[in-house]
Amino acid sequence: MSELRFDQIRKRWVIIAPERRKRPFAICRIDESEEGECPFCEGKENLTPPETFAIGFSGRKPDTPGWRVRVVPNKFPALKSDINLTKLHESDYFLSLNGFGYHEVIIETPVHNYPLWERKIDEIMDMFVAINERIKFFYKDRKIKYVLLFGNYGKAAGASLSHPHSQIVALPTIPEIPKNEMDSSRKYYIKNKRCLICNILKEEIESGARIVERRNGFIIWEPFASSFPFETWIIPENHECDFSNLNNIEFEKMAFILKDALLRINKFLKSPPFNLVLHTSCNLNYINKKERDIIKKSYHWHLEIISRMTQAAGFEWGTGININPIPPEEAAECLREVKL
Ligand SMILES: [Zn+2]
Ligand SMILES: [Zn+2]
Ligand SMILES: [Zn+2]
Repeated sequence: MSELRFDQIRKRWVIIAPERRKRPFAICRIDESEEGECPFCEGKENLTPPETFAIGFSGRKPDTPGWRVRVVPNKFPALKSDINLTKLHESDYFLSLNGFGYHEVIIETPVHNYPLWERKIDEIMDMFVAINERIKFFYKDRKIKYVLLFGNYGKAAGASLSHPHSQIVALPTIPEIPKNEMDSSRKYYIKNKRCLICNILKEEIESGARIVERRNGFIIWEPFASSFPFETWIIPENHECDFSNLNNIEFEKMAFILKDALLRINKFLKSPPFNLVLHTSCNLNYINKKERDIIKKSYHWHLEIISRMTQAAGFEWGTGININPIPPEEAAECLREVKL
């Protein structure tokens, strides 16, 4: 069974997951010759665990063809939901929880070779609807503190199957990166009564140097201190802390802007492997009203796209400082000029 251990020195969580050793190695599974056996293709529903959510034609039975998006538990989960959340250790030095949580796969399309940026707007919207439904479902569980949606596209980005899919992990703790974002936003809000990201965006829009595109209330932005070359954020212009509060009209706008960003990145960088990460608010359902209001007003959700062109090496691991050879202003200019 996996275990969540807290690193008291570096103040972050790690998942020790011996079961993940059984997982097929990325390099073999992504091999073209195995595509006939792809468990995510339509018609191969029996090769995955039973679905937890799907969008398909009305009257369709679960785990049969006729779906547009399908969500299934990960066959090799980092965390499991069929156990009770328990503390395994608790002392000054050693804190750990059993591996309670949810780990699911969103099969974004029934079509094998159909990347996100080639899809129709309503097909991208289907994916957002599925993500949204699952976030809402996980946040009904009071033991869940944070949900992370992420996608690994391309071998070098960590994909173990080439069929387009993303993953969603619901955790009983708030991980380090979103926690830091929430903490700094909170501190800024307490002092200034404004959202930090809203204020940053205001200045960014005025200067325009790092803005790639601004459309329908969404912005494609290369952040000032981008950690990676062409690190790209998609962010709503109006303040909103929680992605799952979006409605269909906003999903449509979001689908246009995401497609726009990915087309630009793909065209300019010639189909790089990339990761996609959604940073939304933590589970607000079970915290006190005062704290909930602060998070609602201070945190600003966003989607981060990271092209995997550089590899973290000794310096990055040793310092936490990434060396980014491409200034975000230059990246923004290159992406702005891409003709779609
Ligand atoms: Zn497939
Ligand atoms: Zn904001
Ligand atoms: Zn973020």
